[in-house]
Amino acid sequence: MIYLDFAATSPVNVEAIRAATPYLTTDFANPSSTHSSGRRAKAALNDARERVAKLTSAHSSEVIFTASGTEAINLALSGISLAQPAGRRIISSPTEHQASLAALNFLHQFHGFQIDWLEVDKFGVVSPDQLETLLRADTTLVSLMCVNNETGTIQPVNEVASICASLNVPFHTDAVQAAGWMSLGFNNPAISALSLSGHKFGAPKGTGALLLSRDIACEPLIHGGNQESGNRSGTENVAWCVAFAEALSLLPDVEQEGSRISKMRDWFTTTVLADVPGSSLTGHATDRHPAIASFVIEGIHGASLLSELDRMNIQISSGSACSSEHEESSHVLKAMGYDDNTAQSAIRISLGHTTSMDELEATAAALQRAVTDLSLYR
Ligand code: PLP
Repeated sequence: MIYLDFAATSPVNVEAIRAATPYLTTDFANPSSTHSSGRRAKAALNDARERVAKLTSAHSSEVIFTASGTEAINLALSGISLAQPAGRRIISSPTEHQASLAALNFLHQFHGFQIDWLEVDKFGVVSPDQLETLLRADTTLVSLMCVNNETGTIQPVNEVASICASLNVPFHTDAVQAAGWMSLGFNNPAISALSLSGHKFGAPKGTGALLLSRDIACEPLIHGGNQESGNRSGTENVAWCVAFAEALSLLPDVEQEGSRISKMRDWFTTTVLADVPGSSLTGHATDRHPAIASFVIEGIHGASLLSELDRMNIQISSGSACSSEHEESSHVLKAMGYDDNTAQSAIRISLGHTTSMDELEATAAALQRAVTDLSLYR
């Protein structure tokens, strides 16, 4: 089987599970218990928090463990917006992940926030100039993803963050796809909050973290025993927090690995564009995630192509794994100006650290075959 869907999820790093196992078995105690077993669990949790802080250039008091990237994003968007005493406006982009779009819709429907949308160009990139025209004194929050999960397009997050900081408007970024591939830069004081998801980089599913600047107020989503400094109540999943920290610490150097994998991705992209009739790249040609190649293929139904490749034991995606079950055509591509039919022809190939050239060569050949077969039945 060839797996090229690492942006949907990655295999769990066995070292992460090894590090976590004692906190599921021998040292299983509740970290809030004051006996020695509880103190050992608490020490492991603190250590995991310190490690995540160090690896992301945050302070340990700025790390809030969550149970997913989706939860981290919801906590950032709702928590920061609802904690603001005045203002009912949020700025974001239409190509965000469903986790953000649905949270924004909730804030609009149930709390009366107005959402101001940044347009994207044909590559899916927002314009900092448009942000300047939309920002107002009563803007509560700006949220923009680092890198798009469907197209791999990188957003000008640092520039956007600086514009927000100049007006003292909090800025959140969904860095779920960036972790492990781009430096996270929480040392940039203009970034107020940053969301992470563990299963994208070798930690188990159901792990995540929100990095939240100490000077930003946040209303918790989950109320109870005030764990995670009151930001997220509920007994902490010590083992999964340890696994999250361990997996993050085991990631290869982003520069070296990014350059190695992007060369493989570029070979794949060039081969597909040359050999697969009607194919074109979506997203930005150069400012893109090193491991994501995304295409539309004229006259082909993306879902049928996926099934055909699956039959050949090759697993790729039509875009966002979270929405592809429900969504007929990608909201991301539509926001970039693609029509419905073209957007339905989208496929995404995402490489992992273990991907080999042999796998890419086999996939490019299979893709060409599958597209030819499907074209014959049109
Ligand atoms: N944001 C982006 C950009 C994603 O790609 C995903 C998952 O695909 C999420 C958020 C949601 O993360 P999780 O699956 O941990 O809830």
